Amino acid sequence: MDCQNCGAPVDEGWTLCVACELRFAGMLLRLARDVTPLHDSLDATLHPGGHAPVRIQTATPPTPIRLDVLDLIDMLDATARELWRCLDGIDALDWHKDPRMEDLEATLIACAGHPKLATFHDAGLYMHIINNLARKVDLALDPPEQRREIGTCELCETMLTAGAADQWVTCPVCGREQRAQTVKLRRLETLCWDDSRRGSAAEIAKAFTDAGITVRRGTLNVWVNRGKLCNGPQGIAYCDVYRLVVGGAA
Ligand SMILES: [Zn+2]
Ligand SMILES: [Zn+2]
Repeated sequence: MDCQNCGAPVDEGWTLCVACELRFAGMLLRLARDVTPLHDSLDATLHPGGHAPVRIQTATPPTPIRLDVLDLIDMLDATARELWRCLDGIDALDWHKDPRMEDLEATLIACAGHPKLATFHDAGLYMHIINNLARKVDLALDPPEQRREIGTCELCETMLTAGAADQWVTCPVCGREQRAQTVKLRRLETLCWDDSRRGSAAEIAKAFTDAGITVRRGTLNVWVNRGKLCNGPQGIAYCDVYRLVVGGAA
């Protein structure tokens, strides 16, 4: 017989090889450990920061829920219970008679330690399903792209975050959809309207470039050397750079 997951030869009566059984049990245990962080990340005002989330400042009280995470928890819950019943050989028609009420975490742990994990009939299929779910959970808890603060929501002033490629952002608090570029530009303008805001050439170049207006640090230094810009003890004024770059005075 062959392992249903990797195709390696296994003894009669086994559906998974030893390595795949260990991987399967490991995936289930990792998912059990993720249940609490998943519930925590239902709160949309948390930064998607995985296991040590940081709360963002919110200007309005309602706490919206991340529906994608809610769906994921539901799917994981249904799958884990289905798997447990399959492992125990309870027929689908008799599921409604299954009296067990363990929570999701306990169910996942019970499946991981089940003596039939590598011998039950649909082991390969469930390993595949659980693997897909584990990947989705990882994405929900630790998004692959680095999300950065880009500026505040135009309606409720909540700090918004976006990935480098995001064109639009949706405010997690008020639900307002905004163009990421507009949010960044507004943030830059706030910096530039305030006469007291100063920064180093590098900081200012970064703030402008982030907002979609390419300004090189070297260019700013050249302007300082030529006397077009004043570089005081606190640095260069954002408003001076804004006047030169956007006002076309350069
Ligand atoms: Zn295998
Ligand atoms: Zn908002």
